[in-house]
Amino acid sequence: MVVGNWKMYGNLAWNKTLLESLVEGLRDYRNADYAVCVPTPYLFQAQAVLAGSNIAWGGQNMHQFEGGAFTGSVAPHMLVDFGCSYVIIGHSERRELCYESDPVVAAKFEVAVKVGIKPIFCLGETREEYEAGITEEVVARQLDAVLSRVGPDGLAEGVLAYEPVWAIGTGRGASPAQAQAVHAFIRERIAEQDFEVASHIKILHGGSVRVANAAQLLSMPDIDGALVGNASLVADQFIAICRAAN
Ligand code: PEP
Repeated sequence: MVVGNWKMYGNLAWNKTLLESLVEGLRDYRNADYAVCVPTPYLFQAQAVLAGSNIAWGGQNMHQFEGGAFTGSVAPHMLVDFGCSYVIIGHSERRELCYESDPVVAAKFEVAVKVGIKPIFCLGETREEYEAGITEEVVARQLDAVLSRVGPDGLAEGVLAYEPVWAIGTGRGASPAQAQAVHAFIRERIAEQDFEVASHIKILHGGSVRVANAAQLLSMPDIDGALVGNASLVADQFIAICRAAN
């Protein structure tokens, strides 16, 4: 599975070219799931261009409540209205810049499943945490927050994305071996509660996934796909990464 995270980039004309190129470039590739998570105002456009193609679309965030006086926020059912299959939950940029806590991320995961959208649940340690040698402790805490709220069966309704924060947007991603070790840790921790769920759940990798390193990362046994930021903004690059997952 390969998911593009456009972050806060794009405009109508640029999106049109990118989306149409993706449809064309991935038309004959069916062995993996592909999706793009676009800024909220462009969901209608993603739906219009991608409907009927083999590329799904989704949001990059949503509120954990179903409605209310939350100026500027997007309710889960609004993503449903635009045909979203996925929503990114707990991206490090939201955790860090918008102060999203583990309980909020867990609540969002739960409500996404409730409305029928697959959450792409991001977890990963910061550079300071990595350097302090507490990566496993951090991802265990983030994972447990969701697991304790929805249980292993609930978790199975989503997709995980391990993204070391120090690798995001830096061009210096984790090595395949480094990434594999944390993916295996995450899977083992889920297996402690439910072996079946652990063996089937998809754990994507994110953080400077590029054309040059995608195939190697994707060949690791516990890496089931990629969450791609910057490289998803360039059609040829995103298509090449998607093809590497084939
Ligand atoms: C991301 O935004 O989730 C991401 C992984 O970004 P990049 O690929 O640019 O590191």
